[in-house]
Amino acid sequence: MRIFHLSAECYPIAKVGGLADVVGALPKYQNLAGLQAAVVMPYYNRKFVQENEFDTVFQASTLLGTRRLYFEILKEKTDKLGFELYLVKIPGLLDREEVYQYPDETEQFIAFQIAFLDWISYSQQSPDLIHCHDHHSGLVPFLLYHSKLYTRLSHIPTVLTIHNGQYHGSFGWDKLSYLPEIDLTKTGLLDWGGAINPLASAVKCCWRYTTVSPSYLTELSISSNGLEYLFYMERAKGVGIINGIDTEIWDPKKDPMIPHKFSIKQITKGKQADKEALCARFGFSPDKPLISFIGRLVLEKGADLLAAAMEESFNEHPGQFNFLILGAGEKETEQELLELRDFYSEQCNVFIGYDESLAHLIYAGSDFLLMPSRVEPCGLNQLYALRYGTLPIVRSTGGLRDSVIDFGEEGGYGIRFHNASVEDICTSVTRALNLFQNTKHLQFLQKLMMALDFSWDRSAKEYYELYKSLNPTI
Ligand code: ADP
Repeated sequence: MRIFHLSAECYPIAKVGGLADVVGALPKYQNLAGLQAAVVMPYYNRKFVQENEFDTVFQASTLLGTRRLYFEILKEKTDKLGFELYLVKIPGLLDREEVYQYPDETEQFIAFQIAFLDWISYSQQSPDLIHCHDHHSGLVPFLLYHSKLYTRLSHIPTVLTIHNGQYHGSFGWDKLSYLPEIDLTKTGLLDWGGAINPLASAVKCCWRYTTVSPSYLTELSISSNGLEYLFYMERAKGVGIINGIDTEIWDPKKDPMIPHKFSIKQITKGKQADKEALCARFGFSPDKPLISFIGRLVLEKGADLLAAAMEESFNEHPGQFNFLILGAGEKETEQELLELRDFYSEQCNVFIGYDESLAHLIYAGSDFLLMPSRVEPCGLNQLYALRYGTLPIVRSTGGLRDSVIDFGEEGGYGIRFHNASVEDICTSVTRALNLFQNTKHLQFLQKLMMALDFSWDRSAKEYYELYKSLNPTI
């Protein structure tokens, strides 16, 4: 019955991307379905933590190499998120503001995992299953099964969900001493390419792994930053389960972050009013089609293609549409986009940074959302766009392929293209602008999109089936 989700991110405590949204929602829906799911994550010195009350439920010390670390497990008092939330706090290591990119990230996440295992081991807990998310908790399956410190726990099934297979958390063998005492005959289970690779180790040691869409499961054997062969060999353990969305937070009928709420029935009026608010903020005419992009400005998302593709599209359709970007990432890409904005200031605007409320307004007030991703394990943006009646323009990859059907096909509602290229983006922009001229057809598609069901109910059921296959007592 009792499941622990281990993650570096969880909305609303700390969010960098989709991992936070999933870990902030899936346990809530699992609990509604009768499981007892809890989240364990590092302590972050951020708004949610500062504004809520916590009990210290466990205190101890552990070793990271020769360094003694004192740690506390804090529990949020009221379970207000719909699940028990536990934070691992280690002064000087797990009490910071940012989630990633500290020089001692390896130490941070190893310490997180050891403290978690020490806690459940010493406090005599026996969860029915441990669910790890991405490489930040990827050493847990190995340590559970191959460290004699945790023998008491070695019967517990582990599931790994891969939200992004590009990042592995690899580190050199010189840091092996950071791990607690392990069975040295099993070190091959930690290795990939001559380094300790937490994601690879998790794939090897977990009972089952899942990817956040069925297409991504197949794609990992073709492209996963060096783990292709491993994913090919371990494919029998893999299951693809598409993410859901938290339909309570992402609900245009009651979203507090958008000025005009709307249901399917009032979509035309409500969406137009939100579009007007969004356009007023960015100096656009609300009568023209508005295409937006939200996300990390990195190669994976195809963000490097945006400036060239939009320049070509602006020249092909002068003054006929507007383009808005919300994101942050590679400095070079940010600079290119700012230059694009300066050159096409009437048609283009760019917000560099992270802004949750603005993201909600963009989903509500845009006509189209562009996602030219090279890699998209699931992608949540297109699901939010659909929920707010915004037509997604997506490259056919990963979860985008699994969730968006081109409007040219039977039952379709989005625009799909094949190559992450300037040419394919421009062709899709032209298709979007043509569709915008056909108001009736666009309104029909908006209603169709809003009626789609991407709630967690279906996906949570698939996780439940998977858990049950590993531990029939669940
Ligand atoms: P990722 O690969 O970044 O995890 P996903 O599509 O799975 O991509 O999830 C992205 C999530 O992060 C969505 O909730 C999206 O709205 C949000 N997001 C991304 N960039 C920004 C930003 N700059 N400001 C606000 N929200 C953002």
